[in-house]
Amino acid sequence: MDFSWTEEQDLWRRTVRDFAQKQIKPRVREIDTSKKIPEEIIKGMAQLGLLAPTTAKEYGGAEVNWTMASIAAEELGRADISLAIPVLYLVESAWGFIFSQYGTKEAKKEYLPKITSGKAFCGIAVTEPTGGSDIVGAAKTQAVKSGNHWILNGEKMFISGITESSKWGGVHLTLARTDPSADYKGFSFFAVPLKDNPSIETTLLEDMGRMGISTGGFVMKDVKLPAYHLIGELNRGFYYAMEGFSAARVLIGATCVGAAEAALELGREHIKNRTAFGQPLGSFEGVQFPLAEHYCNIEGVKLLTYKAAWIMDKMYKEKKFNHHDVALAAAISKLRAPIHAFEVMNEVADWLGATGYTKEYPIEMGIRGVRSYSIGAEGTMNIMRIIIARELLGKEFLPYKS
Ligand SMILES: Cc1cc2nc3c(=O)[nH]c(=O)nc-3n(C[C@H](O)[C@H](O)[C@H](O)COP(=O)(O)OP(=O)(O)OC[C@H]3O[C@@H](n4cnc5c(N)ncnc54)[C@H](O)[C@@H]3O)c2cc1C
Repeated sequence: MDFSWTEEQDLWRRTVRDFAQKQIKPRVREIDTSKKIPEEIIKGMAQLGLLAPTTAKEYGGAEVNWTMASIAAEELGRADISLAIPVLYLVESAWGFIFSQYGTKEAKKEYLPKITSGKAFCGIAVTEPTGGSDIVGAAKTQAVKSGNHWILNGEKMFISGITESSKWGGVHLTLARTDPSADYKGFSFFAVPLKDNPSIETTLLEDMGRMGISTGGFVMKDVKLPAYHLIGELNRGFYYAMEGFSAARVLIGATCVGAAEAALELGREHIKNRTAFGQPLGSFEGVQFPLAEHYCNIEGVKLLTYKAAWIMDKMYKEKKFNHHDVALAAAISKLRAPIHAFEVMNEVADWLGATGYTKEYPIEMGIRGVRSYSIGAEGTMNIMRIIIARELLGKEFLPYKS
């Protein structure tokens, strides 16, 4: 066992940190208020290879492994505590990877170079208005083959990156039923471009946080896609979705670690300098002890998250683990990371006193942003618990019919 970083990992962290602290951190409030990520930041991310970095080099990606991808996620979370840029980063990393692994050559050639250069977006569209957790039971979107095309009808809701995809171009990997008589084995994945598509109507939602990236939905009425927009094998879409979710959950863990570290560092400085009753706040045990507890929790989540990234690297490179091992490790990280990050931020808001309730500090952006992950982006907390219990007890103990 070796807990040290390699030279390459150290250099990558320093490079991303330098960029993120200089170019992103000073603009987070502006991003939160203007509700968009500045073009210069997107360009800078593209230059550093931070857009869909897990995709193949052939299409402009950096082919980084999951440990490297997690290091960047942590640094982006540390710089943008609102989590808007980390969301853009991790959604494209996870789903760009699935696209890169399973998409057709034509589709990848058409979209991936634009995605990795910041000219297009890559998102995920699984959830429907009728439900996200029970997607197998709830999904109504259907895809029917017609000659050399697929025709899609249905509605997706609570989808990240609707404005980005509609304005910049790119695709949302969209889950649709291709065999209505089958259960989860009847879904396929399609690359659906939202921009300038008259058969697609988009809607936008007003979120609580992570304001720099949009959330919304889209209705598809006879959307006609060329056959090469099918991703991977027919009726294997559910498996690809689960694979992408595991990857996204590990990056969420890393992002939350970074944001929690930034919040705790801010709080630590404050309690060292702010005095009450003639001494620094940090000298009171009532303040010190939570500091120690939160520090331990973040360290714990960090270990869980990088262990999950390491398991993924071992699976993809050496086939030493399988998708169940990855799903379990990713669910553990996703179950713990947003909760601890939220608790840290909530505590730091207390330490800041009245200023903790103002926009003087970024903490309130963090609290709003990190809640998206405990509420349910990329799977709710209870779904993480169900995955963990499934791996411990067996599939036959699932609380629903699979
Ligand atoms: C900010 C944000 C961004 C998102 N971006 C995307 C995106 O880009 N693409 C996408 O496809 N989706 C996205 N989602 C949707 C997300 O995946 C869903 O919100 C999530 O899967 C939960 O679905 P739901 O909202 O329909 O809640 P429901 O499935 O209705 O669940 C409601 C509650 O019931 C609980 N519950 C459900 N079943 C059980 C059970 N068997 N046992 C115990 N408790 C249960 C859940 O844990 C939850 O607390 C996003 C969500 C948010 C908040």
